[in-house]
Amino acid sequence: MLDWFARAKRDLPWRRTRDPYAIWISEIMLQQTRVAAALGFYERFMKRFPTVASLANALESDVLAQWAGLGYYSRARNLHKAAKAINGEFPNRYDALLVLPGIGEYTAAAIGSIAFGLPYAAVDGNLLRVLARLDNDPSDIGNPRARARFTARSQELLDPSHPGDFNQAMMELGATICVPKAPRCGECPVQKYCAAYAAGRQTELPIKGRKQTKVEIEVTALVIFRGDRMLLIQRSSEAGQMPGFWELPDTQTLQSAKVGAEVGQVRHTITHHHYRYTVRLAEWTGKLPPGFAWKHRNKLDETLLTTATKKALRKC
Ligand code: SF4
Repeated sequence: MLDWFARAKRDLPWRRTRDPYAIWISEIMLQQTRVAAALGFYERFMKRFPTVASLANALESDVLAQWAGLGYYSRARNLHKAAKAINGEFPNRYDALLVLPGIGEYTAAAIGSIAFGLPYAAVDGNLLRVLARLDNDPSDIGNPRARARFTARSQELLDPSHPGDFNQAMMELGATICVPKAPRCGECPVQKYCAAYAAGRQTELPIKGRKQTKVEIEVTALVIFRGDRMLLIQRSSEAGQMPGFWELPDTQTLQSAKVGAEVGQVRHTITHHHYRYTVRLAEWTGKLPPGFAWKHRNKLDETLLTTATKKALRKC
């Protein structure tokens, strides 16, 4: 695996450093974002916040603005909180990493092994797939007990003298060769050890628990102008998704609006929620309800907008 990784690894900016801060940022970005999509965000984020101190001293709104487009904003909030908690030297022990906001076992093992050479296997969905196939193991990888077993197995396989490279090699194998739908077994460096390949079952594994049912949601989003200003509503600070972000009102949040012509439709998906926004021009007169504000059209670039609202505004 180490020889193969040395030859085949993709040249990625976070692989050119052992700076735990840079590795941490990349690991958090890559949790829900593909490498190709994360690259530009990573470069920009590191330029804006090159050290843990610069991130700790930033305003939360600046951190969220740099994160805009990556989704799952709790990641950015936790990065900010953790940077404040670090307050000095980056922790170099697994247990000290694990107590930071947003750092679970996988991330602690990834940062610990890559930046500090700590012998912890980093187990994520990619690695579970590779392990299930290597051992031809039909256990449900969503089941906590099976996960614990897979984690113990990966710890057994880990090369303790090169834990960082070994973890990255396994991740790379899962990301580029042992991919979910059509694994490229012909190019696989561990094909001769792979029990699923020997049994011809590689595409049947891993077994995953029941998927969350898709939920379709229809929303009528309202574009209301008063001169050069547009009416927006801010999500409350307790909102589960994107608290503090601004968005277009809709027929639920502004029931008394006079709804006019359609300007287009946009779709937006958050996990298993599939939203279809019908964007309509509307008129509204009255006192501003709490949470609403008129924003000048030239200032929208500086306003923290939800991605769905940005998509809707592109239709106008
Ligand atoms: Fe995955 Fe195929 Fe390699 Fe087995 S042989 S680990 S299924 S790519």
